Amino acid sequence: MSKFWSPVVRDLIPYVPGEQPRERLIKLNTNENPYPPAPGVGQVLRDYPTDHLRLYPDPESRALREALAREHGIEADQVFVGNGSDEVLALAFQAFFCQERPLSMPAITYSFYPVYCRLYGIDYRTLALGDEWQVPLEAFDAQSGGIVFANPNAPTGHGHDRDAIAALLERVTECVVLIDEAYVDFGGESAIPLIQQYPNLLVTGTFSKSRSLAGLRLGYAIGSRELVEGLERVKNSFNSYPIDSLANAAGVAALEDREHFEACREKVITTRERTRRQLERLGFEVLPSQTNFMLTRHPEHDAAQLFAGLRERGILVRHFNTEALRDFLRISIGTEDEMISLIEALEALCR
Ligand SMILES: *Cc1c(COP(=O)(O)O)cnc(C)c1O
Repeated sequence: MSKFWSPVVRDLIPYVPGEQPRERLIKLNTNENPYPPAPGVGQVLRDYPTDHLRLYPDPESRALREALAREHGIEADQVFVGNGSDEVLALAFQAFFCQERPLSMPAITYSFYPVYCRLYGIDYRTLALGDEWQVPLEAFDAQSGGIVFANPNAPTGHGHDRDAIAALLERVTECVVLIDEAYVDFGGESAIPLIQQYPNLLVTGTFSKSRSLAGLRLGYAIGSRELVEGLERVKNSFNSYPIDSLANAAGVAALEDREHFEACREKVITTRERTRRQLERLGFEVLPSQTNFMLTRHPEHDAAQLFAGLRERGILVRHFNTEALRDFLRISIGTEDEMISLIEALEALCR
């Protein structure tokens, strides 16, 4: 605590990201992709004319927005880009959720959302998840100041299909519905086609998970022109150049390589399902997942102890010390070999 801090800063409870260890561990704690980005990304970075770094980047990141628009069959002015989707989410909270009425979100979802609420002084309400750990879409109040959730949700892994999202949007028309699709490429169904019909739908996405570019920091939002314009107003009041020139070019290269993208995500999905069966054989309960992670618990073994035992064996997973999640481990999907090591370690720990 410092007397120099603004009052709002004294009350912040910042988000705590998963550890980035210095030692070499099998890292299954922050849902990074175990496979390298598209080869074209390396090519772009190697060939980049460094003299161009004298100049400011394109403040509108047109090349990247056009590439995302082509990818999703929409127009570039329906795309907003930012320095990671965390930044895009922060700008969206400020652009749309600073309202009289409270924001609604599930009680278990990405834990960054309440952090933004504190930062911007947004009042919010939470809804308990359903019996199958699903986001209870029918329980969202149409009179909310806004609605936000991840789909598929984190850290539970459950996703709703597009029809379910459309039903929500038929009912909720007077506030922004923000759907965070950070994990959609691993088996979810994207709501992006619905933006043409519902001007209050904003969908965010990231290059960090399915494009293997967490270190580059690229995220985006897709929605109606009026929502994109709202985001641009906030962004241009904060930082005109969130996407540097290298990231702009590398992001385009990543989008161009569809084959690499498909191959990586299929490997992740195959490994996920194989690992699920192996965990179940060891007695773990594993929540169904449409993502690149699994939430799992063992009826006889304490999650905190398993976490510590794995760490001793050089494997880092995520344990959330909250009441709802204390019994669970969240395990990111690594390579086939990494997951074999995980299963061997858990076998030893559960014996
Ligand atoms: C990883 C993650 C993000 C953040 O992605 P960045 O683009 O790396 O900032 C956003 N939402 C959810 C639910 C995530 O898990």
